[in-house]
Amino acid sequence: MSTASEIFNKVKKDGRKFLLEPEAKTVCMNYGIPVTDFRVAKNEAETVKFAEKIGYPVVLKIVSPSIIHKSDVGGVIINLNDAKDVHKAYKQILKNVRKHKAKAKIFGILVQEMAPQSTEIIVGATKDPQFGPTLMFGLGGVFVEILKDVTFRIAPVTEDEAREMITEVRAYPLLKGYRNMPQADIEAIVEILLNTSRLVMEHQEIKELDLNPIMVYEKGAKTVDARIILE
Ligand code: ADP
Ligand code: MG
Repeated sequence: MSTASEIFNKVKKDGRKFLLEPEAKTVCMNYGIPVTDFRVAKNEAETVKFAEKIGYPVVLKIVSPSIIHKSDVGGVIINLNDAKDVHKAYKQILKNVRKHKAKAKIFGILVQEMAPQSTEIIVGATKDPQFGPTLMFGLGGVFVEILKDVTFRIAPVTEDEAREMITEVRAYPLLKGYRNMPQADIEAIVEILLNTSRLVMEHQEIKELDLNPIMVYEKGAKTVDARIILE
């Protein structure tokens, strides 16, 4: 596995401004942030081979330095249950992407495990011109997008601050379990906040980081999409 520094150096050398999802997830892995299992395939046969290795259901996504919002161009297809689904989705993604962005450079197809639905959280980081790296936390979906129910701390955050971030959002009671949603693994969220804090402190070239969504389970968590933008 490449180190985080190797990845950042490569992206800068290529003159790119954001990491591809597999690069961002590899950076996360280097910092102990859990991500979905994934591989990057170079052709259709390899896509199917990797899907079988990872195990169904899988998700396919476009890997392109020209595309930052993958689903906007039809570059994400989820819930693929067998080789036939994968063959079909592979062709569909390439077709969608070519239609939206004929000149997009395509590096490959990302094959990843489909993370079971659960409570979704968002962990983000931005760089404040005055205070430097700042962490954000909230619950996914309507809580962040509509209710703006998020909280911020200047990095580096301590364990106590990480716990405060989690308990002070209004949606916090949902993490304790609600109706058919089981209790979420709070310790796993604390770890993710501390590790993200360490990552943005040690890599000041990060302008923006977005782990969105992260599925949180009764035991453990998994980052489904990771975006890292450089200064
Ligand atoms: P985008 O670049 O458009 O943000 P994402 O990678 O976030 O693309 O994929 C779009 C959506 O598809 C995600 O927000 C999530 O709801 C779903 N999704 C993506 N990857 C997975 C996965 N591995 N498991 C489950 N759902 C996924
Ligand atoms: Mg996303």
